[in-house]
Amino acid sequence: MAYAGKYADELIATAKKIATPGKGILAADESTGTIGKRLASINVENVESNRRALRELLFTAPGALEYISGVILFEETLFQKSAAGKPFVDMLKEADVVPGIKVDTGVAALAGTNGETTTQGHDGLGARCAKYYQQGARFAKWRAVLKIADGCPSPLAVQSNADGLARYASICQENGLVPIVEPEILIDGSHDIEKSAAVTEKVLAAVYKSLSDHHVLLEGTLLKPNMVTPGSDAAKVAPEVVGKYTVRTLQRTVPAAVPGIMFLSGGQSEEEATLNLNAMNALEATKPWTLSFSYGRALQASTLKAWGGKVENLEAAQKAFFTRAKANGEATLGKYTGAAVADGASESLHVKDYKY
Ligand code: 13P
Repeated sequence: MAYAGKYADELIATAKKIATPGKGILAADESTGTIGKRLASINVENVESNRRALRELLFTAPGALEYISGVILFEETLFQKSAAGKPFVDMLKEADVVPGIKVDTGVAALAGTNGETTTQGHDGLGARCAKYYQQGARFAKWRAVLKIADGCPSPLAVQSNADGLARYASICQENGLVPIVEPEILIDGSHDIEKSAAVTEKVLAAVYKSLSDHHVLLEGTLLKPNMVTPGSDAAKVAPEVVGKYTVRTLQRTVPAAVPGIMFLSGGQSEEEATLNLNAMNALEATKPWTLSFSYGRALQASTLKAWGGKVENLEAAQKAFFTRAKANGEATLGKYTGAAVADGASESLHVKDYKY
C-alpha cells in the first residue's frame, strides 16, 4: 500500500504547489565542489561569502521568483543567511517559494560494469531529512546517473539506480519531504533520438516499478528526467521533434498520479532548454502532468557571466536571471515566443561525463 502516514496530505499539497503551471524549480544545489567550478569560470574564489553572494543575487532578483515555485539548496545554503543576516529559507518562504534540499552524497562505481555508477546517501538519510524538515525544507532531490554507451545502461545499473531512488523516496515521505526522483540519462554520445527514447522508456518503467514496490505515494512525488534528445555528438533535431518524443516516452511510463515532471537541462544551452520545454507544452497530446523545469545550468549560465563576481554588475546579472526565469515560466504554458535570446543564451553548456 502507498504511504498513508501523517505527512500524506502535506506531501500531496507540496508536490501540487511546486507543479503549479507557469512556474518551475531553480536548481541552486551545486555542491561546494561544483559551485567552485562555476565560480572559477568567472574568476571568483570559492569561499562562503562568494557562494552566499551568488545565491543572494538569485533569490533577490526583482520579479524572478514569480516564475519559481521551488528552489533546491545545498545544505550550506539551507542554513545560511543573507549578507544582512536574513535566513535564506525565510526569504524564499516570504516569496511563496518552497525550499528544497539535495540529499544524495554523490555516485559510486558499480564494480564489473563499463564505468557505471549508483548513487549513495541512504545511511542516516531519515535523520537528515527530519533535520531538513525542521529547518524549513519541504522537498528533496536525489540524482541517479545513467549513460548510453556500449552495453550501457546495463540491467544492473538500471535496477540498482531505480531501487536506490525508490528507497530514498520512501525515506523522504516518512519525514515529510516530497522526493524529486531524478534518473538522469546523460546526453553524452552519438546515438540518435530513437535510442534516447528507447533507453529513457526502459529506465522510467523500472523506476516506477520500484516506486510501487517501495510503497511510494506517487501523488506526493515529482519526476526530474532528461528530455529525449539525440546524443551530444549527433545532429540536433527541432524542438517539436524533442517535444513529441519526450511526451510519448512519458505517456508510456509516468502514471497520471504524478503531479509534475520537472526536467533537468543536462548541458543544453539556455535557449534550447526553453524552446524544447515550450514545444512539449505547445504539443496537442494527452498530458496528465504539469511539464516544467528544474534547471541548474540553463537558469544560471548567463547570470553568472553577467555578474562576474562584481557588485557593479549585480543589476545586469539579476536581469539576466529574470529573463531566463520568465522565458521558462512561459514555456511551461507553451507561450514562449523566443524573445529571450541574449548574448550567450545559445551556447552549449555541455560538459562531458558531467558530475553535479
Ligand atoms: P542541470 O539543469 O544543470 O542539468 O542541473 C539540474 C540538476 O539539478 C541536476 O541534478
